[in-house]
Amino acid sequence: MPLYAITNQKGGVGKTTTSVNLAAGLAASERRVLLIDLDPQGNATSGSGVNKNELSTTSAELLDGTSVADCVVHCETAGYDLIGANSLLTVSEVNLTRLGNGEFRLREALKQADHYDYILVDCPPALNSLTVNALIAADGVIIPIQCEYYALEGLSSLVQTIERIRHTANPNLVIEGVLRTMFDPRNNLARDVSKQLGVFFKKELYHTIIPRNVTLAEAPSHGLSVIHYDKNSRGARTYIELVGEVLKRERKLSTSTAGER
Ligand code: ATP
Ligand code: MG
Repeated sequence: MPLYAITNQKGGVGKTTTSVNLAAGLAASERRVLLIDLDPQGNATSGSGVNKNELSTTSAELLDGTSVADCVVHCETAGYDLIGANSLLTVSEVNLTRLGNGEFRLREALKQADHYDYILVDCPPALNSLTVNALIAADGVIIPIQCEYYALEGLSSLVQTIERIRHTANPNLVIEGVLRTMFDPRNNLARDVSKQLGVFFKKELYHTIIPRNVTLAEAPSHGLSVIHYDKNSRGARTYIELVGEVLKRERKLSTSTAGER
């Protein structure tokens, strides 16, 4: 059961869009998926068709010790389980920072979630205690990157944070994949940044590139993943391609670890 944290402290790069569509795509491939919204903005919650303001048990309660089973909402159309979030998660963020071992709360809570094939965590746009909780609980990090001038700037502090956590709390943490999002091939700068990413993240860079596509931006206002909103759109087709790539990497990994035994 891999747990992937979908992280980039830069805002608006496609973390939530990737979380929701990857969750829906993996669920459509018959995987049991849990999506955890760890952002007080609650965009992954509303994008999954759940009213964030009507939720009484959210990821805030999960971090406070409520069981996974009591926090989960099943999203019928999307086919995955969701632990939602709303603005009250901001209070948890502050409290977690104050607590001695507040950064281990998510890992502790998810010990009872081993019946899922995939757990995805949509992180907030900050390297705060919520994101650190996700990185400590995770097996891998998926980093969505918008190919633009400032894209690479914050990346080194994210990579340093990942390394720090690998050396302290979570030795197994890897960068699972780097995903180019909102890509416009006509833009020279985007092509340059994309090339640089290929040099920096040779192994990690996904071949799939998510284009800028208006259907991807429309789907959340209907509370649907793009796969359920318009499965023939370019956005849906590229996210389905990404699901294929994620599953393929997973298979490669399990055959290589089986060989080691
Ligand atoms: P935040 O940092 O605020 O959590 P985020 O990294 O989760 O943002 P999203 O919410 O996924 O980013 O995307 C930001 C905005 O861009 C949203 O309005 C979303 O619908 C839109 N968007 C995301 N991906 C694409 C795309 N490939 N093409 C067009 N619009 C997109
Ligand atoms: Mg988001």
